Amino acid sequence: MQELIFERPHTLSWRETPDPSLEADHEVLVRPIAASTCDVDQAVIRGASPFTGPFAIGHECVAQVVELGPAVRDLSVGQVVSVPYHRCCGHCAACEADLPLHCERLGKGMIPSYGFPHAGAWGGMFADLVRVPYADYALVPLPPDVDPLAAVSAGDNLSDTWSTTVPHIRARRDARVLILGQGGYGLYAVQWSVAAGAASVTFVDDDAGRLASAETLGARAVPYPDVASLTPAYDVVVNARAGSEPLQRALRLAAPGAVCENVVIFFEDVSLPLFAMHYSGVHFHSSYCHARTFMPQVLDELARGTIDPRLVESELVRWEDAAEALAEPSSKPVFWRP
Ligand SMILES: [Zn+2]
Ligand SMILES: [Zn+2]
Repeated sequence: MQELIFERPHTLSWRETPDPSLEADHEVLVRPIAASTCDVDQAVIRGASPFTGPFAIGHECVAQVVELGPAVRDLSVGQVVSVPYHRCCGHCAACEADLPLHCERLGKGMIPSYGFPHAGAWGGMFADLVRVPYADYALVPLPPDVDPLAAVSAGDNLSDTWSTTVPHIRARRDARVLILGQGGYGLYAVQWSVAAGAASVTFVDDDAGRLASAETLGARAVPYPDVASLTPAYDVVVNARAGSEPLQRALRLAAPGAVCENVVIFFEDVSLPLFAMHYSGVHFHSSYCHARTFMPQVLDELARGTIDPRLVESELVRWEDAAEALAEPSSKPVFWRP
């Protein structure tokens, strides 16, 4: 099959690799029909991560089921499904505690995600076939009226942004939201925050296109250099901007009793403004997203038209053009094949 390989910064290529085959009766094979990159992929492609190529990249897709293991009961060939970026069994103590990234069967050691060097033979999602274990649990069928291109990130960024905004906004009256963005993630967070009824949404970025998009989506847009002029008046703060300085600013801008969600993966320790945090009593949470836990709710929201994620799509690209298009990725490119 053809699989997209991250070779080295700004260089990707399609390589011929062996077709995966079912190795357990709970597995299925799926064929991705739409895929995207998240902010982490884009950091990898820019060379701003410790992950060096070559390895199969991609961990956001919507796919069609092509082959079922004999124990699979709830899926059928041809069905269109959202694929979580991580593998999980659904039955162990960690999965039952809604911590599927720490799945006792599949999550030993590194986060069990597709599309990274440690994914090994599981590969990435820019591929003709992807093998999914414990598929009855892992895969979430798309509701009938949901556009696969709208749901392309339901297995990662859409669920992640939902989890870092919506429950916090619903738990507070008149929540004032601050989002520090650097890619598509921040704009999805704006969409969910506005839809959840936030009293205000302030979006900080340094990209003119994303700042304009955020305003169109209902946020107040603030260029990153102006972040110093903001005062600590935010009840829900989401940091999706790399570097220690944005994280420290995010934490300092928390209002008393706020929650601050950090979604940037820091590969080194950074100092935190603990005196300011101690004063505000901010609840700080930094984590990968247990995406599978949130996917059914997110797909249900898409079916009800709560948000239209395609407003965040920066370009729609033919599948076969992914290697060239991703060499200089835009905020939220979506790739598809009929
Ligand atoms: Zn991701
Ligand atoms: Zn498990």
